[in-house]
Amino acid sequence: MSNITHHPSLELIQRFANGELIGGTALLVSAHTEMCRHCQQLKAQHEQVLAQQSLTNAAPNTELDDMLTSMLASLPDVDRTPPSPLTTARSPLTLQQHRFELPRVLANQLDKLGSWSSQPGKLHQARLDLGDHSLQLIHMDRNSTVPAHTHKGNEVTLVLHGGFSDDQGDYKLGDFIALDQRHEHQPRTDDHEDCLVISAVDAPLHFTSGLARMLNPLSNLFFKP
Ligand SMILES: [Zn+2]
Repeated sequence: MSNITHHPSLELIQRFANGELIGGTALLVSAHTEMCRHCQQLKAQHEQVLAQQSLTNAAPNTELDDMLTSMLASLPDVDRTPPSPLTTARSPLTLQQHRFELPRVLANQLDKLGSWSSQPGKLHQARLDLGDHSLQLIHMDRNSTVPAHTHKGNEVTLVLHGGFSDDQGDYKLGDFIALDQRHEHQPRTDDHEDCLVISAVDAPLHFTSGLARMLNPLSNLFFKP
């Protein structure tokens, strides 16, 4: 997937490698990294730095080393055959006539996906409920438009299928988009391609134009964090 042009910031990648990210942002950075060789390399580089730091900082402890060595020596022989790979064959995500293959980290959560609901503008939305947080899967059919909206908080979005555009640019499979309250945008698809995205937000959207009056009561439901 060499066509990915929108990546998490280096800071996000490093915080992900540090184990500091939580909730939907962590899940989406993980899913993007699964799809993106560039970010895999950045993460691996940072993990090397972390490993060197921990080696440099660790005080030598020969007593502990000796204890570990003798413990290992006293262990019974264990089966050293590698474990069989995890079963990854899962039903792809389906919506009407569409079938979507997801990054493994998301496919593993599909049993927590709620039902799809139809929204104005040829949109469908389903909630992925992960207990302490939730994410929204949003499918935009061809030739559809989300009313212009700003963000009261931070929103991260990952493109899982097809692509969409807004005033800032074009977003394709694997692209990672981070938005905050400074951004107003109006996502749209063209007549060639539908689009599936997954978003994590920490505040409801605020619609600013178009169907705003009709949609604002829905925004809590539509993009509920
Ligand atoms: Zn990337």
